[in-house]
Amino acid sequence: MIDANIVGSGPNGLAAAVVLARAGLSVRVYEAEDTIGGGVRTLELTEPGFRHDWGSAVHAMAFASPFFQHFAITERTAFVTPEISYGHALDNGRAGIAWRDLGRTSDGLGRDGAAWSRLLKPLVDNGQRVAEFVTSPMLPVPRHPLTALGFGLRALEQGSPLAGLRFRGDVAPAMLAGVYAHSIGRLPSLGTAAAGLMLATLAHSVGWPIPVGGSQVITDAMVSDIEAHGGVIETGHRIGSLAELPAARAVFFDTSARQLALLAGERLTPSYRRALGRFRMGNAASKVDFALSAPVPWASADLRRAPTVHVGGRYAEVAAAEAAVAQGKYARSPYVLVSQPSLFDVTRAPAGMHTLWAYAHVPAGSDRDMTEPITAQIERFAPGFRDVILASRATPATELEQADANFIGGDIATGSADFRQLLARPVLSSRPWRAAPGLYLCSAATPPGPGVHGMGGYHAARLALHEVFGLPVPSLAPNSPQSVS
Ligand SMILES: Cc1cc2nc3c(=O)[nH]c(=O)nc-3n(C[C@H](O)[C@H](O)[C@H](O)COP(=O)(O)OP(=O)(O)OC[C@H]3O[C@@H](n4cnc5c(N)ncnc54)[C@H](O)[C@@H]3O)c2cc1C
Repeated sequence: MIDANIVGSGPNGLAAAVVLARAGLSVRVYEAEDTIGGGVRTLELTEPGFRHDWGSAVHAMAFASPFFQHFAITERTAFVTPEISYGHALDNGRAGIAWRDLGRTSDGLGRDGAAWSRLLKPLVDNGQRVAEFVTSPMLPVPRHPLTALGFGLRALEQGSPLAGLRFRGDVAPAMLAGVYAHSIGRLPSLGTAAAGLMLATLAHSVGWPIPVGGSQVITDAMVSDIEAHGGVIETGHRIGSLAELPAARAVFFDTSARQLALLAGERLTPSYRRALGRFRMGNAASKVDFALSAPVPWASADLRRAPTVHVGGRYAEVAAAEAAVAQGKYARSPYVLVSQPSLFDVTRAPAGMHTLWAYAHVPAGSDRDMTEPITAQIERFAPGFRDVILASRATPATELEQADANFIGGDIATGSADFRQLLARPVLSSRPWRAAPGLYLCSAATPPGPGVHGMGGYHAARLALHEVFGLPVPSLAPNSPQSVS
């Protein structure tokens, strides 16, 4: 009998494998695809020499996640942390710029600078506490209650129609819309505000780092650690039933909640199965990768040095785009998330050339190629963009699911990240990762939800070490022997 089977090799499955293998347990990871990493892979999607992040590109949680801190990801892979975290494109060459430096950002916002600072400074000053609080379960008592209270009050305000009252101009509200809309949902709403405030806090604290070599290097760092500690990863093996797995003391599912119900149905209690059945998938992303002959010619000079650009205009326009998608429609003027990593990392493209990563939100299950709407929206803020496109590759929402079964209908959050489902993910519990004795759900369908932080896997593995194996949590530091952290 082996100690642990892990179904799925996304960052959460790999994080669980790292912890368990370092605890001295025998671990086997099964991955359906031929490549390891789930949403965290870098591939030549357009032309030879152009390396595109298939899924995640912006790694705001890479420095703030307690798992990655214990794992010392920054000692294992190189990151660039640009002085700008994100920019927000506005018409007539204007832009909102979130510098890593909060003061510089406030200065750039003129009469709204003080209000920006009042909203975010208390969170930025406690950035690590905010990260720990949002990556921990909410029950029984949130970690760092005072920080949680300050965060919660701001999320309540920003998730309500009062959201814009702090500001007089249109730049600061647009910048907030840009981070809130990451979650794919109506603005204002509590879920989008909570996730967006966390991203805004990180923007002015640890920054939004770019991994040199692409997101794949994060996956590679975990894979080499797992293998160095005796773990085995098998690719091209889609698990269709629990019976396919060798007998093990614990099984971890880095899968959707729906997959867990299918694979482990008989072993789950009826009430837990019903909870899985109630867990809702959200709307989707439709992605386009571009190979470019030159950088994007943004009308705003500052956007030419922003790693991430939120494209979609003023707050009301972004809110209208998200509202359309929430109603199952295509936005007339879509909100587009753009990452331009090759400005900071020359490994992404042949000399002098660039890669561009972009996606728009679309209704769940959409098979629409969004190349033209995305291109037109970028061209609006960067006249001449079309002239620098060498090649592009569309990945509609349905194709995202084909390459990673967790992204049902193209939902890249593995379950709607609305407020209710941020709390009950997939159940409201102080141990939401435990599905049944010896069975653990550890994907983005568990707290803290979507993103590359490894925390679902970390929490689930720690729980199993305690409940199943009676072992302490090992150190995750590079080159450390098995010691307790
Ligand atoms: C286009 C896109 C852009 C994104 N951008 C960002 C970003 O910029 N920043 C960020 O932080 N996050 C981003 N994300 C989200 C992030 O990638 C996910 O939240 C994260 O990968 C979730 O990790 P996970 O381990 O839960 O699952 P996944 O990464 O989805 O991995 C699950 C793995 O399990 C495998 N699997 C599923 N079922 C089975 C089975 N039955 N048998 C065997 N294997 C199975 C899948 O093939 C997959 O490899 C993005 C995602 C996408 C798709």
